[in-house]
Amino acid sequence: MPHSDSRSSERLLTLAEAIATALRSIVPIGETETVPLLEAYGRVLAADLPARLDVPPADNSAMDGFALYLADLRSDQPTLLPVVGQALAGHPYAGTVPRGAAVRITTGATLPDGPDAVVMQEQCRIAPDESWIEIEPKVAARLQPGENIRRRGEDVRVGTALLAKGLRLRPQEVALAAGQGITSLAVARRLRVAVASTGDELHEPGAELSPGGIYESNRYTLIGLLRQLGCAVTDLGILRDERDEVLPALREAAATHDVLLTSGGVSVGTADVVREVIAELGRIAFWRLAIKPGKPVTFGWIDHCMVLGLPGNPVSVAVAFLLFARPLLLKQMGAEPAEPLRLQATADFQFRRKPGRREWLRARLRLDSVRKPVVGIYPTNSSGALSSLAWADGLVELPEDCAGVAPGDAVEYLPFGGLGVE
Ligand code: AMP
Ligand code: MG
Repeated sequence: MPHSDSRSSERLLTLAEAIATALRSIVPIGETETVPLLEAYGRVLAADLPARLDVPPADNSAMDGFALYLADLRSDQPTLLPVVGQALAGHPYAGTVPRGAAVRITTGATLPDGPDAVVMQEQCRIAPDESWIEIEPKVAARLQPGENIRRRGEDVRVGTALLAKGLRLRPQEVALAAGQGITSLAVARRLRVAVASTGDELHEPGAELSPGGIYESNRYTLIGLLRQLGCAVTDLGILRDERDEVLPALREAAATHDVLLTSGGVSVGTADVVREVIAELGRIAFWRLAIKPGKPVTFGWIDHCMVLGLPGNPVSVAVAFLLFARPLLLKQMGAEPAEPLRLQATADFQFRRKPGRREWLRARLRLDSVRKPVVGIYPTNSSGALSSLAWADGLVELPEDCAGVAPGDAVEYLPFGGLGVE
């Protein structure tokens, strides 16, 4: 493994190699907890959940109309059927419907015994007192057996897989569980992640800026992204570029968290103490990836705490988090470390570069006059320009061997939505 604390001319790890290496070293947290359904959004399901009920539990009507026997309908003249009762949602019709008769039925009401179709009320002539209905031959001709009937178990069948372990629960999965009468779900406990920014120039928003100072923004990016991932975040604030400040802070945090996420201080300047401290407290598995922005990314462990040293530039932090850290965190959370969604689009821009590193440009997708996807990029490509990220709705990804982009070229576009940014 190209582990090195010295600046070496070794080939940089590609993103794919780095992720694969890191994933191999990650064991998903095993601890689980049971949470009520309304607390389960975004959590990772801890065990497979088979369906314990058929949904719907009985045949029922998909429409407001009349339940009848198809064989009673005439094809040569209108059919007159007496309405002998009603089946309302939650109030079934008792008994079997006699042949030659119809029952008023509402959407979701259990289909009474006997009838094999429901005709929509809009397709019937209905007596003012609803004591009978009349159905035209052309309506009768179009009715199929089972028309407008939702069959028992057609949505969910008892005993089949309802939800799989490792799924991150979206509203629709929580709703599926509710539809089974379930009140709570076993989920992985939240990943405990501590976040620190490092740099002597950094100031908290609200504080007065000293000469050479800037307001810090990386924690605001990282904490937001971590919360969207469902992590329990501890904010360690800003650490000065001093070994004696960084070391105790990281040592303490590592003892009580699953993950330590830092930004800044992993480059090669004299003030870049973070990497040194990680190496002193634990071990560095690798640092420096063939990516742009984000090259100085550092990955290591302090005992059982995974440490991700992200670079300081505001765009680098976001890109390194989304493309590198996110799959690792997902695996540790017990979820699938999914590949980002990549869409093909036509570039409307020119971009010159040297092949070698995988690169991401802040991008926006639109549809051209024939509704084909076209992607544009932000005018400046500086990894310090946070405004480019705020402008963008995704990233253009240029693979390692890409030697540049000309207008009209096909490029890959990664929507932020596919990277979990909401
Ligand atoms: P570093 O990786 O520490 O060398 O930082 C690279 C660049 O990112 C420098 O211009 C820093 O001032 C800037 N930077 C580092 N951390 C932050 C932060 N938390 N918020 C905003 N800018 C930062
Ligand atoms: Mg710094």
